[in-house]
Amino acid sequence: MQETITKTVQLHDKKFAPHISATEIEKAVVRVATKINTDLAGKNPLFVCVLNGVFLFAADLLRKIETPCEISFVKVSSYEGTASSGEVKTQIGLKEDIKGRTIVLVEDIIDSGNTIAKLLPILESQQPAAIKIATLLFKPSAFKRDFKIDYIGLEIPNDFVVGYGLDYNGLGRNLPEIYKITE
Ligand code: 5GP
Ligand code: MG
Repeated sequence: MQETITKTVQLHDKKFAPHISATEIEKAVVRVATKINTDLAGKNPLFVCVLNGVFLFAADLLRKIETPCEISFVKVSSYEGTASSGEVKTQIGLKEDIKGRTIVLVEDIIDSGNTIAKLLPILESQQPAAIKIATLLFKPSAFKRDFKIDYIGLEIPNDFVVGYGLDYNGLGRNLPEIYKITE
């Protein structure tokens, strides 16, 4: 089977070109999982995953975690169209008692860092033992915060991307590869 993806996809008014193949994504997921398996063995981590974009990464990551663990989801939103609005909106709260727990906050992509910066004090106020941050993608040149990101799958340039859970106004989440905007 040919591995290189050459097709451009159109979503709404924008075109997107292939950027990261499914194989590269898989390798990135393995890198993150391997480090977590080493660092958090025996700590019964609670993975707190930030919806919606994280759903595929969370599913693939968790299948590679080899220590007993739990998973929960929160929902926030700071993106409109192709730019971060800077303002983090809706939040659906966590039902678990996280006091004394080891938390892994899981994002599909960290861009400005505003979403995580907003969630961190909310989680910290509930006195977990530790909060680790894991993201599949990280845009270093867009990052405006100073929290430490413990697990990064891939660093990417500051381009808007879709696929593997990430959307452009609702479309593109189903694509198995990651595409970047061309115009
Ligand atoms: P931040 O708060 O770090 O600026 O952005 C975090 C959220 O914005 C991500 O979880 C994701 O939902 C969205 N986001 C950031 N960059 C991109 C991107 O390039 N493409 C898409 N589709 N969403 C993004
Ligand atoms: Mg997200």
